[in-house]
Amino acid sequence: MRSLEALTREASALAQGQAVWSADETEVARQMQICNGCRYCEGFCAVFPAMTRRLVFGQAELHYLANLCHNCGACLHACQYAPPHEFAINVPQAMARLRGQTYGDYAWPPALGALYRRNGATLAVALTLAIAGFLAAAVASNGPLWGGGLGGSFYAVFPHHLLVSLFAPVFLFAVLALGLGVRRFWRELRPVTSGQPASAPAAAEAVHDVLRLKYLDGGHGQGCPNEDDAYTLWRRRFHHFTFYGFAACLLATALGTLYHYAFDLPAPYDLPSLPKLLGAAGGFSLLVGTAGLWRLNRRRDPQHGDAAQKPMDLGFIALLFLTSASGLALWLGRSTPALALLLCLHLGAVMALFVTLPYGKFAHGVFRTAALLRHAVEKRQPNPVGLGSD
Ligand code: SF4
Ligand code: SF4
Repeated sequence: MRSLEALTREASALAQGQAVWSADETEVARQMQICNGCRYCEGFCAVFPAMTRRLVFGQAELHYLANLCHNCGACLHACQYAPPHEFAINVPQAMARLRGQTYGDYAWPPALGALYRRNGATLAVALTLAIAGFLAAAVASNGPLWGGGLGGSFYAVFPHHLLVSLFAPVFLFAVLALGLGVRRFWRELRPVTSGQPASAPAAAEAVHDVLRLKYLDGGHGQGCPNEDDAYTLWRRRFHHFTFYGFAACLLATALGTLYHYAFDLPAPYDLPSLPKLLGAAGGFSLLVGTAGLWRLNRRRDPQHGDAAQKPMDLGFIALLFLTSASGLALWLGRSTPALALLLCLHLGAVMALFVTLPYGKFAHGVFRTAALLRHAVEKRQPNPVGLGSD
């Protein structure tokens, strides 16, 4: 049932022509008011120091705090007001629900924000269509999918210029959509996080926190809970495998493009060339990271997250796994009759990944980085409340 306070706020917002709060925003505001009186979890992560700089929470502040939260779960396991207490404080779950809402709210173009809510199905459709499309194109241009005579060359199946003309626009659109979405988020956050521009030290701190996944260490370096009260660093480690694996694969692709156009050295590349070294190491790292994250996610305490976002989380992990597994299989099976089949599978997985990138789990990294940067800026300004510590 809605609280009297929430109903009063909605009536006041409507009277002033402002946006009415969602149930998830109202719930995070309620929990933050209680946490702000308690402050037991102040040392766990960036959320609580940011919270102590405020006495009231507007919509933009709530979006900021939700994206600062890394969903480590530590504050739920520490909380004396967690369910079944009547206060029913469950910060990780409330933040996860609101975070999911913000991805859709800030999506560009706005009409596609709805895809976040149906991301599992979107991803399955994109993957099926992409693989089917490449299979059909390969049959149309080369005949049977199984057979030799291709000399281990991908470009005997699909010419290089065709692949570039397909993948480059999709990837650039994904970058544009994510960029415009996070720009809207940033513009809304900036006035409520001191309004100051990002300085070099703040940017360096944010980059450091992102690259180290600082807030998955539980605030004490021992990690965060997963399926029980025990701390584990494995979520952080598997995230690192995934993140750096993905980055290495992207770098390998960028280097391959440079080799092709600048040095007239077309793919495929073999060891010990740099694109192959990066691609192989990145693919293997992605494989390990996503397999580990899948296992941890399946065993995770359901109270930590938003059940409605499970298909998005698991779908993204599975798609990254398929992308890396098919890439490594393509490398190992390049000289076999399975080349065309493996190539279609890999290209389909990469295409589905690029198409769904701005409307799925990938967004969490972009929005969280922006929130961490605003936090690094804000904490360098005098505390407007003058209570608590940074
Ligand atoms: S999560 Fe619970 S223990 Fe932690 S600050 Fe909030 S109310 Fe206090
Ligand atoms: S779940 Fe972890 S990151 Fe999120 S607010 Fe709680 S302690 Fe902070």
